[in-house]
Amino acid sequence: MASPDLETLLEVQEHDTVLDQLRHRKATIPERAQLADLEARADGLRGQLTEAGAARDEVVKQQEGLEADLAAAEKRMKEIEQRLFSPTAGVRDMEAMNDELSSLKRRRSSLEDQVLEALEAREPLDAAVEKLEAALAGIASEVASLEDVIAEAELVIEAEIDVEQSKRDAAATGVPEQLAQQYERLRSRLGGIGAARLVGTSCSGCHLTLPATEIDRIKKAPPDAFFTCDQCGRILVVS
Ligand SMILES: [Zn+2]
Repeated sequence: MASPDLETLLEVQEHDTVLDQLRHRKATIPERAQLADLEARADGLRGQLTEAGAARDEVVKQQEGLEADLAAAEKRMKEIEQRLFSPTAGVRDMEAMNDELSSLKRRRSSLEDQVLEALEAREPLDAAVEKLEAALAGIASEVASLEDVIAEAELVIEAEIDVEQSKRDAAATGVPEQLAQQYERLRSRLGGIGAARLVGTSCSGCHLTLPATEIDRIKKAPPDAFFTCDQCGRILVVS
């Protein structure tokens, strides 16, 4: 039997290992990976939406410009038509006005064609924007439900962590300060394991067999003697 301090330290180690596993479980809740995938997909779609939106806005701008030109042409045509029927219009004026009216009619027809073309060009862009917005809304709702699942899983794990942490803290009060400090140093350097039991002739920290001379020295030492593993440097708890 090792000194009670070392047995207590090993108990602390066991709680620390469980705590590490719980923290790892919390960090690697499976839904987190799904969430990251969804967020990456949403990023891609947002990029596409920005492009499609810009292309659509450009066509809308063209369409609005053409519609404004069309409205101006129609307004001018109405003005001329009113003047044509006015009794004060002279023959030469009427000729000039008829010429302008013909030209305005041609312009109107061309503008109408161009507005139609803009509307046709806009149609697939509107559809693309709508499709991307719908896909993003779908992802947003999936993200929200995954976040709920993750939050719930976190709560469960955090409760387990709290329980384990209390047990750990209670056990740690039985470990002398200097030993605790050495343990923490080793633990942070050696993948979370600072103290290990000697099982047979091997260290359960590094799983290597200790040299026969070292085993002999340990066996002959008083029960409260302090050893570290020759191979990995961890605090060795001898049963
Ligand atoms: Zn070792």
